[in-house]
Amino acid sequence: MPTQILPATRASPRTTRPFELTRFFSVTSLIGILVVTASLIWVYRELAVRHLIDHETRANVALTRAFANTVWSNYRDYVAASAGRSREQLVADPMVGRLRAEVLSKMNGLQVAKIKIYNLQGITVFSTDEKQIGEDKSSNAGLQAALNGEVASNISFRERFDAFEGVIANRNLIASYVPARHAADGPIEGAFEVYSDVTELLDKQEQARWQVAGLVLVVLSTLYAFLFFIVRKADRIIARQRRERDAKEEEIRHQAYHDPLTGLPNRAYFAERLQEVISMARRHDHTAVLMFIDLDRFKIVNDSLGHQAGDSLLQIVAERIRSCLREHDLLFRMGGDEFTVILPVVAAPEDAAIVARRITETVARAISIHEHELSVGATIGIAVFPGDGDSADALLKNADAAMYSTKENSRGGHSFYRAAMNQRASERLNIETALQKGFRNGEFALYYQPRVDTASRRVVALEALLRWIHPTRGVVPPGEFIGVLEETRMMIIVGEWVLRTACLQLRAWCDEGIRPLRVSVNVSPVQFENANFVAMVRRVVEETGVDPSLVELELTESLLIDNLQQAQQTIESLKRIGLHLSIDDFGTGYSSLNYLRLFSVDYLKIDRSFVTEIASSERGRAVATAIGEMARALDITVVAEGVETEAQARFFSGIHCGELQGFLFSRPLPAADVRPLLSNSIVLAAGGGPAPRWLQSPEQSPVAG
Ligand code: C2E
Ligand code: MG
Ligand code: MG
Repeated sequence: MPTQILPATRASPRTTRPFELTRFFSVTSLIGILVVTASLIWVYRELAVRHLIDHETRANVALTRAFANTVWSNYRDYVAASAGRSREQLVADPMVGRLRAEVLSKMNGLQVAKIKIYNLQGITVFSTDEKQIGEDKSSNAGLQAALNGEVASNISFRERFDAFEGVIANRNLIASYVPARHAADGPIEGAFEVYSDVTELLDKQEQARWQVAGLVLVVLSTLYAFLFFIVRKADRIIARQRRERDAKEEEIRHQAYHDPLTGLPNRAYFAERLQEVISMARRHDHTAVLMFIDLDRFKIVNDSLGHQAGDSLLQIVAERIRSCLREHDLLFRMGGDEFTVILPVVAAPEDAAIVARRITETVARAISIHEHELSVGATIGIAVFPGDGDSADALLKNADAAMYSTKENSRGGHSFYRAAMNQRASERLNIETALQKGFRNGEFALYYQPRVDTASRRVVALEALLRWIHPTRGVVPPGEFIGVLEETRMMIIVGEWVLRTACLQLRAWCDEGIRPLRVSVNVSPVQFENANFVAMVRRVVEETGVDPSLVELELTESLLIDNLQQAQQTIESLKRIGLHLSIDDFGTGYSSLNYLRLFSVDYLKIDRSFVTEIASSERGRAVATAIGEMARALDITVVAEGVETEAQARFFSGIHCGELQGFLFSRPLPAADVRPLLSNSIVLAAGGGPAPRWLQSPEQSPVAG
């Protein structure tokens, strides 16, 4: 038993996405590891550099102390007296040379790159780099700190540096400013600046830093991998538990909304669904139908054969009803032997009668249970929305009432709540039956209406138009029955017959030696949407042996626009067979030349209603002119349909319309009657008035129409 799918609103109450623990863990942990490692590298570097500076500063202080202890007393007077002296005087002072020799001998073998001495005014009074003697560095912050009794150091990278042992390149140097005193607690008498080269130390630190970072990364990654396995396992367990819980909830929900015997949705679910269907129908302006089905003679079976037989019978009946419905129709068991069916969308209320009839016929077929041949029936009451109530309760009540009144009159039948609907449904049924019979009895025929070339007024094509030659009613025009053929899908068979008959007629005319003419055939959406349509057309063209370029299919715009992509494919396939294609009734639908760009059609047939408007409206003429020009740009020939007056014919000649069709030239005629018009020498002339008027060309004698 195919169970019905619960609607989206019930089927998935949990719309939030489940938490993905493993993914969350992976992302956050990886980010964490990167952040920790990067921070560690940064902190390590900061600490190491600070430590290095401290260490080097202490070394430089010790160095200057040692220097001061041994030789400062020899030079303190020179430094004290340097205030106000020019660079030249300072450089020329013999003390500078002695100091230099002394410094070099003391610093030999140490990491010191340069030594400078400043006086209390911040003037460089000595430097191992002689060029710097005399420079004023009083604004230097480190020097100022040293002159105030503090030690200051900073580290810097130098691409090029004049050390006392020569120029050195790409080195990291620490410069320490140290106060110069004669005795440790004596007054400040100047300042030293000592540069020491720490490049190698820094390189070693850098190396150590990356080693530590690598180690940390390895440790954290191992930890991550370990935790990942735990988390993934936990995640899988949680997911499984979630699935089990969902399944259990689903089962509970299913039990609450379904009948355990037939598996069909039950009365509780019916009420909600009907309400939804009504809302949708109201919003989209649809017609919806509710059927109330009650089984006949079920009680007898139940009482005489027992409940088990009754249950089996209900299951079989439910399955049979389901088989009569379309995919989107809904079937419910209301309890006992009562069922309801909702048809959420129907084209016409009468369509429900077709479904109801199918159900009563199917249910009435014999059922064998426990070696008993049983026969039950179904009586159906039908309520239509809108019309028979605008609430779920009202519709149900009216469908129920319709069912009871049917039961009183005719068990095993169906009827609508409104009597008028029954009348219409039975008329529809009569037409349907008569059409089927008529088609079987060969009452269908094709009439042909000429399409003339605008310039020469000679027939260049014929449109095949379906007629039903009814034994008592006479010729029935297609407007009265095409709709029924389409709704019952009989149009698929009839449409094939039309194409085949038109092709055979074309073949016969060709065999008679008539010059090549195109025959156009109308295609209904039901045919076009059918999966076998292209194959059918190809088969008919092959079997009748006509030149495919003489066959034209007339399609309507709405048929193309409803499913653009599929229409494009079908059109490509039809073009590959070699057929011509036209858009029929242009001006009644979307009338979008923009869409036409997407389809490779050859003709555009402007609808009669539009052609009629031309005569009366300036605006209509402007639109028609624009259509003509745009169609020409797209290489599409315009055909004016329903041309009834010479004025209309002249207007369309003037806007480069390729062909004209209408009562002005000829009405649709049976094949035999249209035959005389097909000779090349015949010119169909206008004469005003709706009756067909055609004339012969000057070299022929007149032929009556
Ligand atoms: P259509 O394809 O637009 O056909 C043109 C209709 O306009 C025909 O009506 C034709 O008789 C009528 N007509 C042509 N010239 C004039 C005119 O000057 N004045 C007036 N008042 N009418 C004119 P018909 O034959 O009644 O067909 C009506 C519609 O039925 C067709 O419109 C077409 O859509 C459909 N149809 C006819 N035969 C078939 C068929 O074999 N298959 C399908 N799917 N539809 C068909
Ligand atoms: Mg047509
Ligand atoms: Mg038309």
